[in-house]
Amino acid sequence: MTEKFIPLTDYRSLNSVPEIPSVLEAPNGLLRDTLARPLHDLRISVTDHCNFRCVYCMPKEVFDKDYAFLPHSALLSFEEITRLAKIFIEHGVEKIRLTGGEPLLRKNIERLVGMLSSLRTPAGRELDLTLTTNGSLLAKKARLLKDAGLKRVTVSLDALDDAVFKRMNDVDFPVTDVLAGIDAAHQVGLGPIKINMVVKRGMNEQEILPMARHFKDSPYILRFIEYMDVGASNGWKMDEVIPSAEIMRRIDAELPLQQLAPNSVGETAGRWRYQDGGGEIGLISSVTQAFCHDCNRARLSTEGKIYTCLFAGSGHDFRELLRGNCSDSEISNAVAQIWRARGDRYSELRSANTSDLPPATRKVEMSYIGG
Ligand code: SAM
Ligand code: SF4
Ligand code: SF4
Repeated sequence: MTEKFIPLTDYRSLNSVPEIPSVLEAPNGLLRDTLARPLHDLRISVTDHCNFRCVYCMPKEVFDKDYAFLPHSALLSFEEITRLAKIFIEHGVEKIRLTGGEPLLRKNIERLVGMLSSLRTPAGRELDLTLTTNGSLLAKKARLLKDAGLKRVTVSLDALDDAVFKRMNDVDFPVTDVLAGIDAAHQVGLGPIKINMVVKRGMNEQEILPMARHFKDSPYILRFIEYMDVGASNGWKMDEVIPSAEIMRRIDAELPLQQLAPNSVGETAGRWRYQDGGGEIGLISSVTQAFCHDCNRARLSTEGKIYTCLFAGSGHDFRELLRGNCSDSEISNAVAQIWRARGDRYSELRSANTSDLPPATRKVEMSYIGG
């Protein structure tokens, strides 16, 4: 029998409306949080809906026909998202990732891509504008997204074996359609394409090597992600996590690897290359080797709440400000005040002492806040 994990509190109601500081300042790009981390990366969730029910993210038993998804009126409009994005860019954001739920389910998403791609950093640079998708609609949408100005995509794919993949997505979705989506994205130039595989012990670990072999010598960068304790509905247990070090050893035994230096500060993946020149892989050790010390990401939920950590229990309700009479300068100063007060480092604390953490009852779901 499958256990049903139900959040005790609806995390979406735990919010505060940001205060507007009494003295307003212009952004100067020097914004830092309490741990001296800049604000560089904004992840925007454009829908809380998804056509998959991945067992580790939106388990069917919780996200069923009775689940209260957000009404359309609660969603930020494209204009509201773009207004907020502009303010974040003035504070130093150079990278924007669209996510969800499944972002390609948001109607006319390419229109939002077009609006965001026209924004520039204070130095006049284009944004690193990207999107994470389960790939199911990519074959249909790749050309539109590219033409609208999207730079690249990351595609989630947890197995190559059709039966395993279907067990993971839990909606009987065939792997060939995702592979066709990846090909289509490559054809139109949405690269370099990263492929994300969440590894859950006892579920898809037998797919580690087939995935490595399949994507070796290809234009794609495969990244293995440790299964995380996000949200409250996946019933996460530490012994279901396969540490990156173990994944690396399993691959290295057959396909020898060599470590590479990180590309940039705040990069989440450890980089490894095949010694025979067959390309590189990434290992994202969110559980066993936390990277909070470099974490420069803010997250905007579908209904306009800013979260300063994936594991935050509550968000800052910017929709209230956007739909009130606030000026851009007031909203900008509210953003700055929240970032300056940020001290989040959940994963470091969890890694330091997993057993002391309270049970996950109020954490925000990944499908709501975006990965
Ligand atoms: N639907 C899109 C997708 O699957 O790519 C975008 C949203 S999804 C929430 C973003 C990423 O979060 C995916 O790569 C997914 O595999 C990852 N993810 C979701 N739940 C996770 C968990 N419990 N642990 C680790 N990664 C998770
Ligand atoms: Fe949907 Fe992505 Fe979550 Fe899977 S990981 S259920 S595709 S939002
Ligand atoms: Fe960033 Fe929070 Fe994840 Fe740490 S736990 S890396 S602060 S999102």
